[in-house]
Parts: sequence; structure tokens; C-alpha cells
Amino acid sequence: MPNTILYDDGTHRNVLLEDFDAGGFAVQSNQHVIVHGGEGMILDPGGHKIYSRVLSATFATLGNAKLRHLFLSHQDPDIVAAVNGWLMTTDADAHLSEIWTRFVAHFGLDHLVEHRLKPIPDAGKMLELGGVQMPVVPAHFLHSEGNFQLYDPVSKILYTGDLGTSLGTDYVKVTDFGQHLRHMEGFHRRYMASNRVMQAWANMVRSLDIEIIAPQHGAYFQGKEMVDRFIRWCSSLECGVDLILPSFKVPTA
Ligand code: FE
Repeated sequence: MPNTILYDDGTHRNVLLEDFDAGGFAVQSNQHVIVHGGEGMILDPGGHKIYSRVLSATFATLGNAKLRHLFLSHQDPDIVAAVNGWLMTTDADAHLSEIWTRFVAHFGLDHLVEHRLKPIPDAGKMLELGGVQMPVVPAHFLHSEGNFQLYDPVSKILYTGDLGTSLGTDYVKVTDFGQHLRHMEGFHRRYMASNRVMQAWANMVRSLDIEIIAPQHGAYFQGKEMVDRFIRWCSSLECGVDLILPSFKVPTA
């Protein structure tokens, strides 16, 4: 699939890059680029198998704009494995939960670029892009223990990382929420930590004006009604520790 333009007003652009199949066994992942004026950001750039293709697609999307930020929602390999390459070939800073920065160094972080891996405190922070302030909002335990989402107030897109993931879809945008559920349910029941944290997230994001929810895997949700349905679904879902306790039994031969 070619690039998908989620928003473009002439100075501000949000682009979902074409799908770079990592091959075989590897989970599908989305790479999003935001450009405002002369500056750009890539979200969850991915691992080694797609690194060179994502890098060239990002530069093509940026045009004359300069890559300023790499936003890393959490520590998983499909998000951060190639971070050293990105830091070595660009001048951008990478932003990641403070509880993960020393672990990510094991992916092979050159000491020359270490200082450009910027820790995000638990409360989140603001990221500035071309003069626009974008909140990095806490989404801990959805699914990672140190997990963040990015809200872009110009396009009104909430980038939700693994929350909203769908697997096995052949479309980029959700049109039928009911039909879409079967692509989301299994993943969220296992990977999201609990209904309590889903509710806390839902209560927080209801204060944001959201037009699109864009996850890191699978299809995105567009329009107030679809966004609201997704948030309501999250806040009522039993998941994670709500369901896993009965499996704590020692296996027998
Ligand atoms: Fe993950």
C-alpha cells in the first residue's frame, strides 16, 4: 500500500508510511511521520529488517524538512531495535520512557549517540516540533510498564502505540467497528494490563479533541463516532490480570 496522508494543511502533514513488510514471522507495524514547517518526527521507526526502507521513505516524506525527533512509545524490538542507526544517520533526538533507556542500550547504542536518547519521565512531557507543542501522554501498562502516546493538536491525531492494535486486517482504516473487533480482542485481552488502567486511560483521553486514533499495528480509527466507540470499548474490556490468574498452575507431565 502507498503512503496514506492522514492530514495536510500545507504547513502541517501527518503521513502513514507505506507498509514495509518485515517478512515471514514478523508482526506488521506502522510507521508514522509528522512534518511541521521545517521540522519532522518519526514515531516508532521499527527494527533492522525495515530500517533502510523506512529511512529512505522518511527522508522522501520530509523533503527539505529536518528530522528533529524519534518518538519511541515503548521498548519493544519492533519499535526501537534500529534506534542506533537512526541516531547515527540523523541529528534527531530519540525520546523513550526513563525506565527503558538503559535496556535499549543493549540493542547496540554507540556511545557517541547515547546522550541523544532522552528519557521521558512517568508524567510525560511536551515535545516541540516546528513551534507546535505536542503532549506526550502517559499510557503505562498499555501494554508496556513505561509507555507513552503522542497527541498532535494540529491534526487532532492521538498516536496510541500498541493500544488499538489490530492483526490480520487488509485495510488501513476501520469502517465497520463491529467486524473489526475480532482483529483486536485477542491482542488486547492478553497484552493490556487490566481494566482499571484501560479506564484510567479512557478518562484521560476524553479530555482531548481527537479526530483519529492511529495505532502502531493494523488499521486506524477516524471520526468522532469511531474514536468514541474505541474509547468506550477500551474502558469496558476485561484484560490482562483480570483474566490471567487461573493460568497460574505448575504444568505436570
Ligand atoms: Fe509492544
